[in-house]
Amino acid sequence: MSKKTIFLADMESFYASVEASRNPALRGKPVAVCGDPALRHGIILAASREAKAFGIKTGQPAWEARRMCPWVAFVHPHMQTYIDYSLRITRIFEQFTDRIHPYSIDEQFLDITGLENLLGSPEKIAAAVNRRVWEETGIRCRIGMGENLLQAKMACDCFAKKHPDAFFGLNSANYADYTWGLPIKSLFGVGMRMERNFQGVGVRTIGHLAGLPREILRKRWGINGEVLWLNAHGIDYSLVEPGAVHEQKGIGHTATLPRDYRKQEEIELVLREMTEEVCRRIRRQRRIGSTVHLYCKGADFDRPSGFARQKKLPEATAAVMDVYPTVLWLFRKHWDRKPLRAVGISLTGLTAYRQLQLTFSEHYEREEALTRAVDRVQERFGKTSIFRASALTPGAQFFQRSGMIGGHDS
Ligand SMILES: [Mg+2]
Repeated sequence: MSKKTIFLADMESFYASVEASRNPALRGKPVAVCGDPALRHGIILAASREAKAFGIKTGQPAWEARRMCPWVAFVHPHMQTYIDYSLRITRIFEQFTDRIHPYSIDEQFLDITGLENLLGSPEKIAAAVNRRVWEETGIRCRIGMGENLLQAKMACDCFAKKHPDAFFGLNSANYADYTWGLPIKSLFGVGMRMERNFQGVGVRTIGHLAGLPREILRKRWGINGEVLWLNAHGIDYSLVEPGAVHEQKGIGHTATLPRDYRKQEEIELVLREMTEEVCRRIRRQRRIGSTVHLYCKGADFDRPSGFARQKKLPEATAAVMDVYPTVLWLFRKHWDRKPLRAVGISLTGLTAYRQLQLTFSEHYEREEALTRAVDRVQERFGKTSIFRASALTPGAQFFQRSGMIGGHDS
């Protein structure tokens, strides 16, 4: 296989940058995107560069951020706008290459193999990409380059984000020199649990892991251990495919409930609302998903309960009436009847839906037409101008969540 040149383009403080892009009054100021503290959503989802300078971090409670910087501007999240910006940025990338693999809402892989002959050195191409994104959206883009996706991701996360040029390249020849001295938690794929495991056996750097025999990792941690060993060596067998079938993250939504939910009907209603939201977002991207993931978190802090389960759908879809029965099936099978604090639903295995259009059942078409009509009404008159009657029943989350996702904020 000939050598590839892969970029990973990452948007700096994406949600906060989008907010500053649509509201000039926020530019250059400490901005934190965060839900409503009264609804227990008071967690920072994104902080602008200026907010980060005060020590404000993603995942932090809002009150703590306020203490670090009393004049920080809190902004409600507008998920639909972030998705729209993400797609706009994809359009910009498409002017450079058609081999794009969206990895998450603010990270996309670009395969620029062979473009050097047309557009100049990778450094030049990266600078041009960054400039275009900045000029058209006001968002700062950072690019890591590698011979595969993993090297590009490592180059971006460990180096490009800190580099004045917002660009850094790794390759198979220099990978060890640059990365082996880094702490093990810097390695892509190492979460908190694996970091602890590795520390328990004296592996503190990426180099330590690379130096162990591959066999030991396979024996101890199975395929996951082996993949991490490959990552430590900069080896990655995945390829950038046009129209990316291997969607890593999928599209989903997690909500912390405003109180503990105990009644089955109430929880199932919230699940229904969330399924609608997730399916709508997927349809807007003209995609369909093949696997449903359901996550439920128990309300008892002392005795953690809950579950995360997934099930493949009989057929890829983005229709609520196809997805919701599987959500219910998962919920009824795994719920231990203990009160819940948070629930989440996502769909993965996303593909462009034109590829499978022929297998579409008739009700998908009908639901699609209905959804389009409802979307148009909501876009014109506000999210709460038309809704399902069930949104008025106790426990429904529609009105609270309308303020969070694409709602009309006052
Ligand atoms: Mg980012």
